[in-house]
Amino acid sequence: MRIEADLLIPGRGEPVKDAALVVADGRIAYAGPSAQAPASTGEVVRAPVVMPGLWDCHVHLLGLPRSGGVQLSKAATEPVATRAARCVGDLQAALRAGVTSVRDLCGLGAYLADAVEEGSIAGPAIYAAGALLSPTGGHGDLHDLPPSWVTEFGRDGGEFRQCDGEAECAKATREQLRKGAKVIKLSASGGGLSVRDDPQHQQFTVAEMRTIVEIAGNAERVVAAHCHGKAGIMAALEAGVHTIEHGSCLDEEACAAMRETGAILVPTLTVQENMLARTDLPPWVERKARALADQHRASVSLAHQRGVTIAMGSDIFVSRTPGVGGTWGGNGQEVALLTELGMSPLEAIEAATATAPRTVGPQAPKSGLLAAGYDADFLLLHENPLADPAVLGDPAKIAGVWKAGLRIEGAGTSVA
Ligand SMILES: [Zn+2]
Repeated sequence: MRIEADLLIPGRGEPVKDAALVVADGRIAYAGPSAQAPASTGEVVRAPVVMPGLWDCHVHLLGLPRSGGVQLSKAATEPVATRAARCVGDLQAALRAGVTSVRDLCGLGAYLADAVEEGSIAGPAIYAAGALLSPTGGHGDLHDLPPSWVTEFGRDGGEFRQCDGEAECAKATREQLRKGAKVIKLSASGGGLSVRDDPQHQQFTVAEMRTIVEIAGNAERVVAAHCHGKAGIMAALEAGVHTIEHGSCLDEEACAAMRETGAILVPTLTVQENMLARTDLPPWVERKARALADQHRASVSLAHQRGVTIAMGSDIFVSRTPGVGGTWGGNGQEVALLTELGMSPLEAIEAATATAPRTVGPQAPKSGLLAAGYDADFLLLHENPLADPAVLGDPAKIAGVWKAGLRIEGAGTSVA
């Protein structure tokens, strides 16, 4: 098949006017000026804009209910089947909104990935971490439950796994690999949704994180580190993690360390906006969110100015509410939020496309770029996101979505 577009945004590099995209066997055969495109038989679809499918590099397929004031402990107290069923709608909404790949950094994604791959449910390709690894009492502990419940939940395959000391960290990492994890997630600092820790405090020691990085590396996996405070960021970089998630407190020294190690920042501005807009948060969650918000924004701006590599992630962690909608499907709003902090629309799109697969290191597919040989994951738009990046957060602006060369049912409206 062939796409004819007024504008082709490749993911990296300059956009091409009057362009064509030729697809064969689930891959891109040609992307470039229409005049030089090889002759093709088959279907022709025309649209104003074509660009690569979006990657959301930080989501949580936890299936938590949106109502009831964000309680992570529901992950351990609600049946897995209920939560997995909620994720089905979340995945479909994301895919129809043009998100063709996600990195699930603590959730049911390792299992849901199989269901997507075999075609039982519609969704983006999932690169899952399995559980969040955390020290006891850390961001991945569920502080409002008895400790033994949480320990058992994590050891039994649940999404929050405590481990202390190098031996337990090694075992917990191997458990995630056994589940099919494509990336490992650890907690280097306190978090906004854990009751009793402080986002400014470091959690795992450098030695513990080094062990996790080593075990993951043996299996050609990279490590994503949740960090807000600077101490956790610096320790995680020293241990060799590949991505810094949130990175709320980056200063000059931390940005220099990120450039030196080549670590990628995944800022997650969407979750911050969504949390601050809610009126049903427990007071301690609201306090933590407000305390970090300005620092987080300043941190992303500085990282961009200092040339730190940035990939797009929303940190959406609750499910849609049927009939009301919600966050899933609005993943692309992160692109516009990144432009508010200094990135150009083209740079923010690169963060959501060509740069994004690098967040899974050696597990990266040939994705995120409209170029010959890459996966035919792309979307068509009615409006130009370079003029208004907010169109990427609005499923109504989508004209069509293709994943592995196949058109997604129910995605996009009226394209000739
Ligand atoms: Zn997260």
